[in-house]
Amino acid sequence: MAETQGKVITCKAAVAWGPKEPLVIQEICVDPPQKLEVRLKILYSSICHTDLGFWNGTNEAERAFPRILGHEAVGIVESVGEGVKDVKEGDYVIPTFNGECGECRVCTKEESNLCEKYQVDPMKRVMVNDGGTRFSTTTTKDGGSSQSQRIYHFLNTSTFTEYTVLDSACVVKIDPNAPLKQMSLLSCGVSTGVGAAWNSAKVKEGTTTAVFGLGSVGLAVAEGARARGASRIIGVDANASKFEKSKLMGVTDFVNPKDLTKPVHQMIREITGGGVDYSFECTGNVDVLREAFLSTHAGWGSTVLVGIYPTPRTLPLHPMELFEGRKIAGSVFGGFKPKSQLPNFAQQCMKGVVKLEPFITNELPFEKINDAFQLLRDGKSLRCILQIAKFLKR
Ligand code: NAD
Ligand code: ZN
Ligand code: ZN
Repeated sequence: MAETQGKVITCKAAVAWGPKEPLVIQEICVDPPQKLEVRLKILYSSICHTDLGFWNGTNEAERAFPRILGHEAVGIVESVGEGVKDVKEGDYVIPTFNGECGECRVCTKEESNLCEKYQVDPMKRVMVNDGGTRFSTTTTKDGGSSQSQRIYHFLNTSTFTEYTVLDSACVVKIDPNAPLKQMSLLSCGVSTGVGAAWNSAKVKEGTTTAVFGLGSVGLAVAEGARARGASRIIGVDANASKFEKSKLMGVTDFVNPKDLTKPVHQMIREITGGGVDYSFECTGNVDVLREAFLSTHAGWGSTVLVGIYPTPRTLPLHPMELFEGRKIAGSVFGGFKPKSQLPNFAQQCMKGVVKLEPFITNELPFEKINDAFQLLRDGKSLRCILQIAKFLKR
């Protein structure tokens, strides 16, 4: 039994104190897990664009400070609370921002991965069990001391910390021999993208695809479409430096909207003889979503929206445009039910069906987390892996 079991752990975390303020690496206290909760030691965490979005704090849902961001990670179970049966101390796990209780009306059906109790909720900032937080600090953002202040949780996970507490519905056990840094990517970006292609669009062999936004999520869509035998994958990005890398994930054509004098959808319809079979919006921009929608073939084209949209603007589509027979639907966490489907997906990745190494473009120590944020903001990284807890065995 861990000597820390049942005790408060004092450790280092990167705390977000306000929108766009550099994260502060400081001491925090992490309470023991309560009923159906798990306390994890985080080994590696990567950064996803959704972390950037909440750090920007553009809308009300995103503004809850102080907060510990981060949702893509891999860790070891330090201890479990009452009633936790499927993981135990020492298990290697990945946190998932979209949980699976296994018992609710949604979890017992195949159709959806949006668990009634633990589905992703951008407004949620406290634990389900008692409405409290398991994080607190007596250190101010300037390094001074204060009365104990609570720190909010984020997306069911909060991984930019040496220790975190999650609902057990939001952890998935993985093979302890799996490459750990790569497993971190399955916590969000790669599962989201590959799942959007496999589970949401159900991309078929020999079909055509357009992916808007070639960050990790969009490139994971491309990799998923490549693995399913798509014959043509058109990558659209305003950053030309993304093209070279995207070839590794099967992108066959690159379109930079900045180089065009006509709308992207017009260009895509021209080069594909009417439009692609599937398009995926992975930028979080509603105008891009319109382009993605119009770039599919009338009659059967299908658009999957994956990006997160902080704007209050609604979808810029005229209802009559739906009469042309194009379909559109959103996809959360690639439609994967985390506990029941990710272990198998992880196995497929380890067998090489989906290649994970190209997604890791940078590695930095935890202390450099603000540099890692900057790399993503500047479009210079796909995933930067941060080494969080020290004294790793491997
Ligand atoms: P990223 O920042 O790494 O990549 C975004 C890419 O989009 C960049 O290459 C950028 O150059 C490109 N881009 C931005 N605006 C553009 C425009 N107007 N035209 C063309 N290209 C443009 O981000 P990421 O980590 O890959 O995440 C992508 C999106 O997916 C984000 O909105 C993120 O919040 C969302 N996301 C959704 C889910 C989900 O479950 N639905 C999960 C994870 C991430
Ligand atoms: Zn994410
Ligand atoms: Zn459920």
